[in-house]
Amino acid sequence: MTTIRDLAEAAVKTFGEYALCDHCMGRIFSLRAGLADYTRLGKRLRSMAGYAPPKKCHVCKGVFAELGAHCDEMVRLTSDVEFSTFLVGATLKPSVLDADDNVRARYALRGTPGAKSDVTATLSKMFSRRTGARPALTLADITLKVDLRDGSVSGETRPVFVQARYTKESRTMPQKADRCGVCAGRGCMRCAYRGTSGTGSVENSISGLLCDMTGSRQARFLWLGSEDAGSTVSGNGRPFIAKLVCPSRRRARLFRQRSLGEGLVVHDARYVASLPKAAPRFSFTARIRITTDEDIDAGALRGLRTIAGDVTDYGTRTRIRKIHSSSYKRTGPRGFQLVIRVDSGFPLRRFVESSSISPNVTDVLEVRCRYDVADFADIELAR
Ligand SMILES: [Zn+2]
Ligand SMILES: [Zn+2]
Repeated sequence: MTTIRDLAEAAVKTFGEYALCDHCMGRIFSLRAGLADYTRLGKRLRSMAGYAPPKKCHVCKGVFAELGAHCDEMVRLTSDVEFSTFLVGATLKPSVLDADDNVRARYALRGTPGAKSDVTATLSKMFSRRTGARPALTLADITLKVDLRDGSVSGETRPVFVQARYTKESRTMPQKADRCGVCAGRGCMRCAYRGTSGTGSVENSISGLLCDMTGSRQARFLWLGSEDAGSTVSGNGRPFIAKLVCPSRRRARLFRQRSLGEGLVVHDARYVASLPKAAPRFSFTARIRITTDEDIDAGALRGLRTIAGDVTDYGTRTRIRKIHSSSYKRTGPRGFQLVIRVDSGFPLRRFVESSSISPNVTDVLEVRCRYDVADFADIELAR
């Protein structure tokens, strides 16, 4: 069995060849000594070997002596961030990695932890002690990167996902925001990393609300369907899931209802684990306002009674689509409203105007019909 005295003899030899700091010396002998506290082991071996601490460590060039200061910076950077798990990554100078490889090869130290994993493990231990958070290899709440080439520290939190619904009374508010012209949505200085430009859209308003609540940099949306600026959304509203990028508050209290002005209201916000793997299927009610090229009377509209049930879409590829229910109401000599409940993907405009769908409103009424606008209600996820 290797005794500490044997190791001290080997250490004398090592000190003769390389100037090593206590930490690197301890790491080199840690496996043989069966000890995990490298600095303490190195210090003991050095004092037994009778050497003074070297001015500069041949392997780490003083990196381990500076880790405390880097940990200070990590703590400062994360002081306003909510997290309970973390992951530390480090970038080392190539000269440190080379010297580490050479020394380990020279002493055939297979299995001994390398300088890089030693740096991240040491920083993790220090940071965990300071913050009470646990290190985690997967799904860490925050990933911290320490660049030992220039001493910079950066952090990125894992996204949170919020699901909610919105209703909208405005007939001038677009659903989606324009992408930032500079970065096309990725996020840049110009758009304050939001990825969008302008104001006054559903997306801008909800993004602002959720980013402020969670201290996030950016929100990316999965909408259950879309509508035009002129369309209202009522009833249970339109569901969406927002991916909130780099949140500083991942446990912020959400809300039952929040009004954002101009009749835009967000309902029942709650956290969900992630985005769905496949695009969700849903059904919705559309109230379509239609104008006709010629006058029509109430009798002519009766043809619409037969329009429920299956319709065949000869558009991109032939499909059967289902109308779950329908009703209509005449609004004037050249106008009426058609209310239908259908599944996601139903081509509303073509159903009114185009013979690529059979039956369609224009053919049934035998008068040219134009789709003006549709209002939406009760968008429900398929079960
Ligand atoms: Zn060292
Ligand atoms: Zn941008």
